[in-house]
Amino acid sequence: QVKERGKGHYQYYRKDMKKGTSQTMLLETGLRKSIERDELVLLYQPQIDLLTGETTSFEALIRWNHPELGFISPGEFIPLAEETGLIIPIGEWVIEKVCKKLRDWKEAGYSDISIAVNLSPRQFQQPGLVNYIERNILTNKIDSNNLEFEITEGAIQDSKEALHTLAELKKLGVKVAVDDFGTGYSSLSYLKYFPIDTLKIDQSFVREVLQDKKDMAITTTIIHLAQSLGLSVVAEGVEDEKQAIFFKKMKCDKAQGYFFSRPINEETVEAHYFKK
Ligand code: C2E
Ligand code: MG
Ligand code: MG
Ligand code: MG
Repeated sequence: QVKERGKGHYQYYRKDMKKGTSQTMLLETGLRKSIERDELVLLYQPQIDLLTGETTSFEALIRWNHPELGFISPGEFIPLAEETGLIIPIGEWVIEKVCKKLRDWKEAGYSDISIAVNLSPRQFQQPGLVNYIERNILTNKIDSNNLEFEITEGAIQDSKEALHTLAELKKLGVKVAVDDFGTGYSSLSYLKYFPIDTLKIDQSFVREVLQDKKDMAITTTIIHLAQSLGLSVVAEGVEDEKQAIFFKKMKCDKAQGYFFSRPINEETVEAHYFKK
């Protein structure tokens, strides 16, 4: 019996591996062409100011509209893009698209809306990044403080290069948020030296914040930490009203999550949030 199970396991493993590999190769080939084929899409998820209840910003979240497979989530192709280096052109496409959107919105009279852009570690370490962002800010004549960049603790570590990049970003006037805060196994000392504006509480702490005493303790501590350091704090993954009320009561600055809205396309943003 053990042998049979072992064998079955082995076969399953092999099949799975094979499928996994060809699937990955297929995706990589497709991903290379996704930009020129215009298959990448940005959705925007509202971030709500908990004091006023207004939507003051959106997080840009990428999707890949694959001709055969349909919408593929970034969780599936961003790691592949990181591995292959394709994240650089894809990331540039995102930055360009977001800056153009901010320009459109500014021209339409909505100049105090911000957009947050995710940067993965390899993008953040790419030498041309700050230059690329600056050029896009200038050509589109947008206000740099309407742009925020989200990086994870893993991307910054405690390195000199990261500090330099952050300082250069700050010179442009853009904001910097630490995404998935509290999940990165890093020391807190970077908060002392790195010019950071925002902490985003990871959704793994938010999901059961009202049921789990430890999640409650961690979330509360992150909010207090941000407040003491003079940073803005955002709760990610708020899925119900009770959680929203909790974060409002805690004086967490902003919240984002399915309770308020799923990520939506630009037409929906404009129709829903920009009506007078
Ligand atoms: P993230 O930056 O932490 O984004 C939050 C993720 O949580 C998004 O998933 C969002 O759709 C999802 N989410 C928002 N509210 C809720 C909620 O109430 N409940 C639940 N269960 N989930 C919620 P998404 O869009 O699949 O993105 C996943 C990750 O992919 C992002 O995590 C980010 O790390 C990465 N990503 C997305 N867009 C980009 C991009 O343009 N560039 C780069 N480098 N990475 C990106
Ligand atoms: Mg993010
Ligand atoms: Mg996050
Ligand atoms: Mg994440």
